Amino acid sequence: MVTFYRRLPKFDYVAPSSLSEALNLLQTGEPGQYKVYAGGTDVIPKLKARLIQTPQSLMDLKGIPHMDYIVHDEKKGLRIGALASIFDVAHSPVVLAQYPVLAQAARSIASVQIQNRGTIVGNLCNAVPSADSAPALLCLDAKVVCQSSLGERVMDLHAFFKGPNQTFLEPTEIVTEIQVPPMPNGSQGVYLKLSPRSKMDLAITGVAVVVFTDSGKFKDARIGLGAVAPTPIRSTQAENRLNGEIINDQVIGEAARLAADESRPLDDHRASAEYRRMMVEVLVKRAIKAMAQGSRRRTQGK
Ligand SMILES: Cc1cc2nc3c(=O)[nH]c(=O)nc-3n(C[C@H](O)[C@H](O)[C@H](O)COP(=O)(O)OP(=O)(O)OC[C@H]3O[C@@H](n4cnc5c(N)ncnc54)[C@H](O)[C@@H]3O)c2cc1C
Repeated sequence: MVTFYRRLPKFDYVAPSSLSEALNLLQTGEPGQYKVYAGGTDVIPKLKARLIQTPQSLMDLKGIPHMDYIVHDEKKGLRIGALASIFDVAHSPVVLAQYPVLAQAARSIASVQIQNRGTIVGNLCNAVPSADSAPALLCLDAKVVCQSSLGERVMDLHAFFKGPNQTFLEPTEIVTEIQVPPMPNGSQGVYLKLSPRSKMDLAITGVAVVVFTDSGKFKDARIGLGAVAPTPIRSTQAENRLNGEIINDQVIGEAARLAADESRPLDDHRASAEYRRMMVEVLVKRAIKAMAQGSRRRTQGK
């Protein structure tokens, strides 16, 4: 059982005013001395509930200038800075127009208050299996830019998650940016979230689907699943079942079943593993059908 304490534990607070200052502190500090945070919407409740070890110092990244950008280039795609809020991503005109699956996923997170405070990068770094932005960004083939004072490396998002609440980020690294490649013209996406309450609730199952169709066939279908495995995952077997096939109900049904088979959900107090797996099938089918209908309407010019 989680116990909520009224007070936070004691820790020092540092607020670097530049990225290089933050990276330098991480590089020269004792192992585990600093815990970085952006919005704090995960870190602060966890510290209060004593769910994570209290660090010697919390490092507030929010004062670092020029890291809250959301920029788009037709050739290079989208770049989301580490301090861009969930709200700004959800309402960015370019995200709404070019990456609607990400806008929907961001809008589904918590409430407007949390969205204004929290960041998409924090949502990924927190690495809970139910993180809403993760299935969408996995479908979009996103990359994570990790920086330390020794240099920069760029990881595919699917290689970023290690397990529940764990990533492959080094303790001396900060994520500075998420990169999303351009989407093929005419691709569509949708994020469907199943949760008992419509607001302020974590996903029991989250399904993101991005589909590009051509001449009545699936050309590039991508399926991301949240809350049904130790980390957010892509359902590659289901994708392979769709790609190259003529759009029809039988293929969609088989792909949805493969996605359910590929999921590895846990039983917990929020939902049984069996229920989560069934919901993967239902939501994947629903999402692909919605995309297929959209592409049919476009082809018929309606
Ligand atoms: C009431 C409530 C409801 C919520 N509902 C949802 C929901 O519906 N869906 C959902 O997905 N989440 C939900 N959350 C979780 C949370 O709001 C999100 O995960 C949010 O995106 C976290 O962003 P943040 O900037 O606040 O992260 P923080 O709390 O600042 O950090 C989260 C983690 O990421 C690390 N981190 C942050 N930024 C960086 C960086 N630049 N480099 C390296 N590490 C970094 C921190 O060290 C920490 O481990 C909810 C939280 C609350 C309190």
